[in-house]
Amino acid sequence: MKQQTCLVCGMNIMATMDHCPKCDNDLRSQHDGSTFTIDIAHQGESVSEALKKMQGEIDLARQDVVMRIRLVVGSGMIRDEAMLYLRDLEHRGEIKDFDLELNNAGAILVRLK
Ligand SMILES: [Zn+2]
Repeated sequence: MKQQTCLVCGMNIMATMDHCPKCDNDLRSQHDGSTFTIDIAHQGESVSEALKKMQGEIDLARQDVVMRIRLVVGSGMIRDEAMLYLRDLEHRGEIKDFDLELNNAGAILVRLK
C-alpha cells in the first residue's frame, strides 16, 4: 500500500487519505515548495502525445507533494495546444494557475497547489 507523510505533523498515512487522522490537515493541499520539470516536446512527440504526457504527469504530481510542474514545451504547436489545454484544467479547478516562464517562452510553469 502506498504511503504518504503528513508535512505538518510527520505522521505516516495511507496515500488514499485526504485528511491527516492526527492533525486533520488537508493532505491534498500540502506541498514542499518544489518544482518538477518535465520535457514534453523534444523527443519527437506529436501534439496529442505531448498533451497525453502532460496530463499523465499532472495527475501523478497532484498526488505528490510538489508545488509546481515546469513543462518544457518548445516554441511550436505543442506550446499553443498545451496553453489551451491548461486553460481548461484551470477552469475545472484541477490546477491553480499557469504562465509562461519569465525569460523563457519555451517553458510553462503550472501551479498545482
Ligand atoms: Zn498531520
